[in-house]
Amino acid sequence: MEHQGKELFRRAGIPIPRGQDAASPADAGEFVSANSGEWVIKAQVLMGGRGKAGKVKFAKNADEARAVAQEIMATPMPPNRQNPKGEPVNSVLVEEKLPIAKEAYLAIAIDRTTKSPVIMVSPFGGMDIEEVAEKHPGSIAKFFVNTAIGYSPFIGRELAFKAGLDPGYRKAFPAIAGGVYDLFFRYGAKLIEINPLVLTTDGRVFASDAKVELDDDALYKNPEFKKWEETLPLDEDEKLAAQAGLGTRNFRRFDGNVGTIANGAGLAMATMDAVKNAGGNFANFLDVGGGANAERVRNCYELVVNHTGAKVMFINIFGGITRCDEVAKGIVEALNTTKSRKVPLVIRLTGTNEEQGRKILADAKMTPVETMDEGAARAVELAA
Ligand code: GDP
Ligand code: MN
Repeated sequence: MEHQGKELFRRAGIPIPRGQDAASPADAGEFVSANSGEWVIKAQVLMGGRGKAGKVKFAKNADEARAVAQEIMATPMPPNRQNPKGEPVNSVLVEEKLPIAKEAYLAIAIDRTTKSPVIMVSPFGGMDIEEVAEKHPGSIAKFFVNTAIGYSPFIGRELAFKAGLDPGYRKAFPAIAGGVYDLFFRYGAKLIEINPLVLTTDGRVFASDAKVELDDDALYKNPEFKKWEETLPLDEDEKLAAQAGLGTRNFRRFDGNVGTIANGAGLAMATMDAVKNAGGNFANFLDVGGGANAERVRNCYELVVNHTGAKVMFINIFGGITRCDEVAKGIVEALNTTKSRKVPLVIRLTGTNEEQGRKILADAKMTPVETMDEGAARAVELAA
């Protein structure tokens, strides 16, 4: 969230407005009563567009801060392009209100075509970058960084000039872009965005907003982010996944009637594609993760049948060296002991002893298949 992004900015020496995150209107009021000045109160959610949604407001004293925080937290952040479901507001950030003269845009991301980091700068901050690209095409200056050489301040100076940033930015900008570049590598980010990068009427420059998307695959490098992740609000699907003992990213619901269970996110997505190709609609994404043992299979089965419109379950397990007869026994046991509603099962198992595995399944009146496409076709047929 923004306040966490700004904590990273602080570490990199990127100037941020002083402030404090608050978990309740009372906390927001208390902070403001202890600190004079004018404050901006901002919903802490994982999506942008808060300004437009009325989730960024101002307060001059503790009473106003409480009232405004109350108002912001009372309703969820409404859906927009970044999150079609919207998001509840569980905390706010109270920050020094800056006297804004200019709002610019600064970001770094990986460019897919050149496979290198690209720094992007525009003098039109404060709106979505898509909107900037639409309304002011040509206003976004880019620099593709050669990672063998890295970043030097002259790159920042040149970018500020090429983008046509207000001259008031020139002194601070190269170090800020350098800080963003450092963070990008230090923490394994996919995107770091400052929108707006504010120039105040008295000539100071601040990162007024922060968006940092970290690469999940780099999280192991920074155990502290695990804790940050745990403080994030879970949506309904993520809560259900956690209750079933899965990782929060291992389950997602959709509208179809073919339930899917697979091991590995890639295979889970391929399974969904196969259902679509067979003319059906999948009810969910589910990656069982490590070890498809009986209890896990049962939990996954129950998760899907209890919370989706699945009329059939397509289980697609790529065993490799896993013994399929063991997996098959586990599936039979799990599904004979479930108290949830029963739906027909189509199961593809590959790996060691796969033939014995298929026999065990067939004996238990389940439908074993040999290929993913065959399984998808059978499942779609059974769901119709
Ligand atoms: P976002 O809409 O979710 O991206 O939230 P931002 O943090 O970018 O804030 C949205 C808008 O609120 C900014 O573009 C500013 O116009 C306004 N805003 C935010 N902080 C301040 C501030 O300190 N002073 C003033 N005057 N406006 C602010
Ligand atoms: Mn913003």
